[in-house]
Amino acid sequence: MTSQVPLHEGLFTWPATKPQLLGSRCSQCAEAAFPAQPDCRSCGSRDTTIVELGDHGTLWTWTIQTFLPKHPYLSGETADTFRPYGVGYVEMPGGVRVEARLKPNSPDQLKIGMPMQLDIIPFCTDENGDQRMTFAFSAVAEV
Ligand SMILES: [Zn+2]
Repeated sequence: MTSQVPLHEGLFTWPATKPQLLGSRCSQCAEAAFPAQPDCRSCGSRDTTIVELGDHGTLWTWTIQTFLPKHPYLSGETADTFRPYGVGYVEMPGGVRVEARLKPNSPDQLKIGMPMQLDIIPFCTDENGDQRMTFAFSAVAEV
């Protein structure tokens, strides 16, 4: 049976029906970080705890990755199978900016300040046949 396992541990709650991005928050100055940091970047305190950063944010800045990233790149894509994708920073509630792959992949689909939601997506299949999952952000559907 194929199982879905996180590409990297500790980035989001998994398995979960409504996954949340995980970061750290400093107990001294309340600075939040993603990925979680053992030391606070703001005040140097080691008193940080893992917190859920949420599953929604707003797009802070973005670009389109139009060529295959340099090695090491684990997805198994080659120059022939590569498809452009969006990449950007999403600002989470509390102000942490998270660098992430974006599902929208053309400039007319992306606008600074637009609401984004967390998506956990398959990244590649490992040698055990398990799907390795990573996180991305997609546009919140218009209502
Ligand atoms: Zn701090």
